[in-house]
Amino acid sequence: TQALLQRVRAHEGLGAFLAVDEAASLAQARQADERRARGEHTPLLGVPIAHKDVFVTRDFPTTAGSRMLAGYRSPFDATVVARLGGGADGHPGAGAVTLGKLNCDEFAMGSGNDNSAFGPARNPWDPARVPGGSSGGSAAAVAARLVPGATGTDTGGSIRQPAAFCGVTGIKPTYGRCSRYGMVAYASSLDQAGPIARSALDCALLLSAMAGPDPDRDSTSLDRPAEDYTRGLDEPLPGASAGRPLQGLRIGLPTEFFGAGCSADVQAAVRAALAEFERLGATLVDVSLPRTELAIPAYYIIAPAEASSNLGRYDGVRYGHRAAEYTDLLDMYRRSRSEGFGAEVQRRILIGTYVLSHGYYDAYYLKAQQIRRLIAEDFLRAFEQCDLIAGPVAPTVAWAIGDKADDPLSAYLADIYTLPASLAGLPGMSVPAGFGAGGLPVGLQLIGPHLAESRLLHAAHQFQ
Ligand code: GLN
Repeated sequence: TQALLQRVRAHEGLGAFLAVDEAASLAQARQADERRARGEHTPLLGVPIAHKDVFVTRDFPTTAGSRMLAGYRSPFDATVVARLGGGADGHPGAGAVTLGKLNCDEFAMGSGNDNSAFGPARNPWDPARVPGGSSGGSAAAVAARLVPGATGTDTGGSIRQPAAFCGVTGIKPTYGRCSRYGMVAYASSLDQAGPIARSALDCALLLSAMAGPDPDRDSTSLDRPAEDYTRGLDEPLPGASAGRPLQGLRIGLPTEFFGAGCSADVQAAVRAALAEFERLGATLVDVSLPRTELAIPAYYIIAPAEASSNLGRYDGVRYGHRAAEYTDLLDMYRRSRSEGFGAEVQRRILIGTYVLSHGYYDAYYLKAQQIRRLIAEDFLRAFEQCDLIAGPVAPTVAWAIGDKADDPLSAYLADIYTLPASLAGLPGMSVPAGFGAGGLPVGLQLIGPHLAESRLLHAAHQFQ
């Protein structure tokens, strides 16, 4: 803990951390030492990790990257934080030590970490470039070796895309696999927590502690016991040999993921990774996800709609920023929210309120929900022909900080390959696949059927 705290200080220029508190981290480390002295030897005990700043924590402030929550401190830990750390409610906790809170786009809205109210996080491979978003601080911290693992959240790609841009591994589990209790809400029907780490094995260790039902606190958490995702990672598939451990695995390649929209350097790195999967025994088959393009308009209606409702709670009354001067109650709401929310958040509240309003609900929100169903059906059909789906995570490598700042639409379009799995609630993973333009990392995306996390992690681990 001390060594990494020193490393975090030495790399402050990366902008990966929003909060550190040496005394709080060392107190947690001492507790882990005591558990070890009592004979406990769980794998994460005493391991320093850090949390995306959308997970509420008792020992550190939580801002969600927003001025609205500057200085806010939660009276409790998010379920995921408690399960990875000191535990709560009869759950022992894995004993990991929190090193601090990680930068992110404001309320997890963004793809470059450039929507953070507290300044950008930078890509360790090239500090002039974005680390991806919205979990940019998490991916940058892991890539720069400030922490061996971190939490992230993924609503439309925010674990997979920053992991790809920073050359690290990340997994977004099936919707509902991790509790959302204590996660600052963006779009509740899509938000999902997951780990970012150096390898599939490390992701498996972290996810084993994070996942599992939380029936009293998150009614959408799945009623399925926690599992040990590290089990069998080193074994060949049933019936396969050690030399070709993935024999029998059918990997579907959606034609829509390999079209003109994907840059040539990314395609080349992804194809090379897929050739390696073939050498490991997997078979590549062509599949189709015909509604891929519709994922963008559907997501950018559904997510802002839910966000506009979730963010209604920031009224300057109960918690969060309150304007210093105002004339009456309405003026207080208006000023507090105008001062507290950044431009992208305000844009999405406006879009969301519009698509939910009387007369437009049927034309936009309802249609988007219908498209969402069709996209889920596309996957069901594709999974009749394959066990996993593979493709790029993003159409390009990391772009320069500021490049898409004045053009939100171009950032939305870059989410094309991550949004379909999000809308369908499916688990998705980003695995380092090699390098593209400028020597920057490229991620291979693996998508599985519902609850196929262990299948994804196994394939990724064998590949790594
Ligand atoms: N880039 C997407 C957005 O801006 C996804 C963000 C996320 O997954 N939190 O909404």
